[in-house]
Amino acid sequence: MASSPFDPALFDSARAQAARLSAHFIDGQWLEAQGGTIPVVNPADESILGHIPAGGAAEVDRAVAAARRAFENPAWAAMPPAQRERLLLRLADLVETHQDELAALETLDNGMPFMASRAMAVGSAISAIRYNAGWPRHLTGDHVPISVPGNWHGYTTHDPLGVAALIVPWNAPFAITCSKLSAALAAGCTVVLKPAELTPLTALRLAQLVQEAGFPDGCVNVVTGLGADAGAALAAHPGVDKISFTGSTATGQHILRQSADTLKRVSLELGGKSAVIVFPDADLERAIPGVAMGIFGNSGQVCAAGSRLFLHEAIFDRFMEGLVAFTQRLKVGDGSDPSVQLGPLISAGQKARVMGYIEAGRAEGASLAVGGDAPSGPGFFVNPTIFIGARPDMKIVREEIFGPVLSVMRFSDDSFDDLARKANDSIYGLSAYLWTRDLARASAMAKRLRSGSVKINGSGMDFALPFGGYRRSGTGRENGREGVEAFTETKAVMIGWTE
Ligand code: NAD
Repeated sequence: MASSPFDPALFDSARAQAARLSAHFIDGQWLEAQGGTIPVVNPADESILGHIPAGGAAEVDRAVAAARRAFENPAWAAMPPAQRERLLLRLADLVETHQDELAALETLDNGMPFMASRAMAVGSAISAIRYNAGWPRHLTGDHVPISVPGNWHGYTTHDPLGVAALIVPWNAPFAITCSKLSAALAAGCTVVLKPAELTPLTALRLAQLVQEAGFPDGCVNVVTGLGADAGAALAAHPGVDKISFTGSTATGQHILRQSADTLKRVSLELGGKSAVIVFPDADLERAIPGVAMGIFGNSGQVCAAGSRLFLHEAIFDRFMEGLVAFTQRLKVGDGSDPSVQLGPLISAGQKARVMGYIEAGRAEGASLAVGGDAPSGPGFFVNPTIFIGARPDMKIVREEIFGPVLSVMRFSDDSFDDLARKANDSIYGLSAYLWTRDLARASAMAKRLRSGSVKINGSGMDFALPFGGYRRSGTGRENGREGVEAFTETKAVMIGWTE
């Protein structure tokens, strides 16, 4: 019988399961720690949920070899696309069957409130897998007219790249894992997945479901460990053909440099400092909660968080009054409590980093409109924080904080070009958000913004739309056709004949 979402027994069984998820998954087998282990900490109460192996080069070698064998094995290599589609759909059904259980595990591991982990983490993972399941039978090449003399038939195919390394961060572990994994498998690759050491649990549970769905052994391997050990060994491994990485810009740059020797294909989804522009004609009833949750959702630990707010002076006071009131009503606490809207940050280190930025904001002369402090007691909590009077040169405006901190700047009758220049004044370019009822104005701004996505009057995400960044927000796109093609090579074929 399915548990109701807030049945405390759900968290009891998730805790018991967390303690059991303690091994790598390689070639369809569970491999216990060969050396040290890493504790898995619940960020809401700092309790230890379990231990995972601190894998390194040896485990990565085994996993890459298993993925290579699986890639060449006809059980996978010659599998008809329709069968790959069926396996992916079966995996999506299994994830859905276990949605509450996976959401509870993600809440314990990452801290996000249960309803968010159910809908956003696991719900969007199911959507991603189902979306990508549609690609194996539709990943068509082109028929290309040939101009050289003679009789020629020219066409292209999208061949799977081979062994793909998927390196995942801790902020949205299950959703990011499932979107990368399903795109790679849809393209016909096999994978070695390296979850973040801070949030490995749902990836290991997913491996069990992958096996239950019937994927051949070795198609999906999971190696746990620190970034500097397991992650670096995977990124540098000569047997890896493709790296799909989501994480910090610094690590992404490192991986790109490392990949040069073997010319691995690399996709990088990195940091952001996304601009939000609220025009005076915006529907404030929608814009206020939209802007608040666009930065405070997942406690600001979202690469696409709208962290720089440009607010038109005509609505500045009214908007701020509503925004502060909304923010003050947000309940911060342990995500297993159904009334909680904001969970903890992921770690003591992340909390200290965010508090450091809040200090910097104060020191540089921005004024706190709300927040700026942290609740007492265990857990890595920071209260949602809004600075007004921020300036473009301040650290809180220039750097990615990855926490619940919003910097607000006022604008007046700037031209589209001037406003776009302010919004584009960042080393990042991941997302931008516009709030206005005037769609001509919205289109004019969208055209000028140098960011991978522009969301107008909302912040939804759809797996059919490519996602990725300009500038130091990354390279390549996930989702959509591009997201699957990123796991392929294009091959051009010319067939000649004589009459
Ligand atoms: P991180 O770069 O420290 O770690 C990400 C992953 O890389 C982890 O699995 C880690 O173990 C691994 N790793 C670390 N060092 C490595 C190395 N030398 N070689 C190979 N792998 C290594 O990032 P994080 O702190 O876990 O995540 C937060 C960052 O991720 C933020 O900057 C955020 O903006 C970004 N992010 C981006 C997106 C996006 O889609 N653009 C989504 C989520 C998070």
